[in-house]
Amino acid sequence: EAMLEVRNLVKVYRGRRGVTTALDGASLEVGRGEFFGVVGASGAGKSTLVKCITLLERPTAGSIRLGGVELTGLRGRALRQQRRRIGLVFQHFHLLWSRTAAGNVALPLEIAGVPREQIRRRVAELLDWVGLADKAGAYPSQLSGGQKQRVAIARALATQPELLLCDEPTSALDAATSRAVLELLQRVHRELGITVLLITHQLELVEAACQRVAVMDAGRVVEAGPVEQVFRNP
Ligand code: ADP
Ligand code: ADP
Repeated sequence: EAMLEVRNLVKVYRGRRGVTTALDGASLEVGRGEFFGVVGASGAGKSTLVKCITLLERPTAGSIRLGGVELTGLRGRALRQQRRRIGLVFQHFHLLWSRTAAGNVALPLEIAGVPREQIRRRVAELLDWVGLADKAGAYPSQLSGGQKQRVAIARALATQPELLLCDEPTSALDAATSRAVLELLQRVHRELGITVLLITHQLELVEAACQRVAVMDAGRVVEAGPVEQVFRNP
């Protein structure tokens, strides 16, 4: 079965300034082991899609299945359990500034109740894997943007997710750093066999790394397929 299957997803926001349909029947399917891109202009609904997949927002209608498990409607323990299957990487890193690089990577393991000695070993291994073995004791304020994103990726991998969901992971980085972070994501895919979902407005990233891509516009997926097919000039 698919790693992620989104069907006819609808999200309507009702606020003081009226009603906004952020998702208007979006559908997409990501296979296990794929490196999949989602692109679209600002306002297309990408962030809303991410928030629904990560269960930060409840969709108004539609279905989201993660490895066959329906996510919409989950609550409490069941919701937390499914959430752990998804690793998250954000544009602005979302690191805790009061904790070292090691402390940030350790956090999800501490929350999961992993024994101390095991945490220490796993954190060292992860930091080594992302090329930051020598930065374990550094605070985020002492790290470059690219290094911060490496820490965030190590943290996202700590609990061994099946899907790594990256929301504009390089949008806050310069071109050279973006390429390095993208290469790290490609290693996640290739060496760890983790399914990667890359949401971005940067088409060149998708062209460089993704196997398939979905194009969003006005709350829908208007086109999806192999990158070379979707990006082929008409
Ligand atoms: P993208 O990430 O592709 O830029 P978004 O998902 O952020 O798109 O936005 C899709 C549409 O939904 C936009 O019109 C946006 O203004 C609207 N929207 C997003 N979040 C909210 C919200 N919390 N309340 C009201 N409207 C929202
Ligand atoms: P912080 O001050 O950022 O909270 P701590 O020193 O309390 O960091 O460490 C938090 C966790 O990170 C600890 O549980 C430890 O297992 C792990 N950790 C800290 N430093 C290292 C290190 N150099 N190598 C591996 N793991 C480390």
